[in-house]
This record gives sequence, C-alpha cells and structure tokens, in this order.
Amino acid sequence: MELRDKFERVIDYMRISITDRCNLRCVYCMPDKGVKLFEHKDILRYEEIVRVVSIAASLGVRKIRITGGEPLIRRNLSFLIASIKTTHAIEDISLTTNGVLLEKYAGELADTGLNRVNISLDTLRPDRYSEITRGGDIAPVLKGIEAAEKAGLLPVKINMVPIRYLNDDEIADFARMTLTTPRHVRFIEFMPIGSRDLWSDERYISTDELKKTAEKIAPLTPVRLRKNGPAKYFRFEGAPGVIGFISALTHHFCGDCNRLRLTADGKLRPCLFSETEIDLKPALRKQSSDKEIERLLRLAIQVKPEGHNIDQRDDLSSLKNMSRIGG
Ligand code: SAM
Ligand code: SF4
Repeated sequence: MELRDKFERVIDYMRISITDRCNLRCVYCMPDKGVKLFEHKDILRYEEIVRVVSIAASLGVRKIRITGGEPLIRRNLSFLIASIKTTHAIEDISLTTNGVLLEKYAGELADTGLNRVNISLDTLRPDRYSEITRGGDIAPVLKGIEAAEKAGLLPVKINMVPIRYLNDDEIADFARMTLTTPRHVRFIEFMPIGSRDLWSDERYISTDELKKTAEKIAPLTPVRLRKNGPAKYFRFEGAPGVIGFISALTHHFCGDCNRLRLTADGKLRPCLFSETEIDLKPALRKQSSDKEIERLLRLAIQVKPEGHNIDQRDDLSSLKNMSRIGG
C-alpha cells in the first residue's frame, strides 16, 4: 500500500512529538520564560500513539521519528520504541534529541529497536553551549554522541542551526568534524518559527552561504545517500563523514516532502509551516473505529499543501513553537 497526496508525493514518514517539555531552553527555539505547556491529560498516551502508528503503517507509513520537546525526558521511551517495533511494516525508527540524556539511554534504546539518532548541537564551545541553551552543559551531550556511536545508532547525525552573530564562526569547525569522523553534520537553515525573540532577516544564513564557508576548507562533492530526506549531502574528498544542508527557506524542500507530523497533544499537522491541524485525540479517546482514524489520517494527507510560503508572509506570529511541533 502506498499513500500519495494530491501532488503525487508518497507519504511514508511520520514525525511524532511525544512531549512539549524540554530540559533546555535554546534561545532560537523557546522564549526565555518557556512556553505554556500541555496538561498531562492532553498528551497522547503511548498506547494511543502506537495505535496511530499501526493504522498509519497499514496505509503506507514506513518510517517513524520520535521527537519533542525533548523526547528523552518522557519516561519509559523504550516501551514506546519496542511497541512500535512490533508493527512490522515500520522499517525505521529514529530519534531527534538534544543528547543531554543520551549517554544513559542509547544502549537500551538500541536494544529495544531504535535504529538511528539525530543530535542537535549548535556549538562545540562549553561557554557558548550554556549561553545558547540558557544554562545547559555540553559535556553529557558529547558523551551521549559517543554512546550513540558505541550502541550502533548509525549514522549519527549532528544537526546544527547556524545563526549570524551567535555561532556562525563555528560553521567550519562543524564541517571539519566530517574529516575525522563518519558523522553526518547537517546545517539547518534558521527558520522564523519557534521563539521569535532571536529571529531577524540579518541573522538568517542561507544554504548557499553555508556551503561557501565549508568550501573554504576544501571542495565539496555531491553524495547520493540511500535515504536523503530533505538534506542535500556533500563530502570532502576522502572524508569519512558527510555534510548535509537543509534549506527550509531558500531551496524549497517541499517538492520531496514525504512526511506527516503528530503533535504531543494528538494533532496531525500536514505541514510544519501551516497552522492547519487535524485533531486525532477526540477520536482516540472516544474509542472510535480504526476506519475513523484512517479517515482522519487520509484527510490530513489530502489537505497537505503543495509548499509553504513563509518567505512571502509578513505575519508569522501564529506559527507555534518548535518544541510543540517537534521540528
Ligand atoms: N529537543 C530535541 C532537539 O533539540 O533535538 C528535539 C526537538 S527540537 C524542536 C528539533 C529540532 O528543531 C532541533 O534540531 C532544533 O535545532 C530545531 N529547531 C528549533 N527551532 C528552530 C528554528 N527556529 N530554526 C531551525 N531549526 C530549529
Ligand atoms: Fe529543547 Fe530541542 Fe527546543 Fe532546544 S531545540 S529548546 S533542546 S526542544
């Protein structure tokens, strides 16, 4: 079974945010005072998430990514991973995390069926890490990356959001990491979503500029990876690692978009940048039939827009926090 939207894109990937809570307060993601959090009762239970996954899998979803907030702060994540693993049609389960708790959980999660992990890291400098995350400690994150590698959660992908005047002087350092490690270092364009405290056109750095900065080290050659996703990958000659660029704003990645998002409070979100949401929770809590959940999933795919137009919108204030949607 294959699930296609109106624009003939195959939808086979679901990103699931399992909590809107976080143990960090990254300056570009959350406002200083944090955000209003969902009440406990509003968060989908693991059993509800597994039910959605199994119905989505019967329609054609093959890949699941767990995200947040910070997913590792929700208790018993291994139970969720193990339960999703029993849905045989699901071929790949991955996790996006800030890495703070990864050292503790990497082995257990790999054992229960997690395939891969993306770790968000925007600086390699301890003092700056503390500044960007409003008080975080980089040491456990670096240990978490090593633990993920040891546990075989490969390839480990490091996601960096380069922001002018904040960490743009480290773009080359991150790119150089691929010369000595097999990591995938991915630069994600700063987006006008999440905390708007920091956003300005001036702080935004385009993929073209990022690539030029990396190419000052050595020429980059395009690489075709089996599962590229929204990133375009390159490699320095002979390097074990690769460099990816995720251009949310400049080079629209919408044409290849294969994903649906499920928020922690049970809303299907067909597009990161659109406020359209389809609420699954009432149907889940009313014990509606699988057919009804399937109808809502199909509806979400049907209303998936062809592309975002955030570059043409003046008012972006309604875009929710990334910590709620999960990036
Ligand atoms: N807490 C986890 C983490 O940080 O990896 C998962 C959730 S976080 C919302 C997912 C991703 O969204 C992170 O890689 C983060 O850097 C990214 N993100 C958050 N706000 C962003 C923004 N305004 N522009 C670009 N990426 C952003
Ligand atoms: Fe938390 Fe991730 Fe947002 Fe940072 S980017 S505040 S770690 S949710």
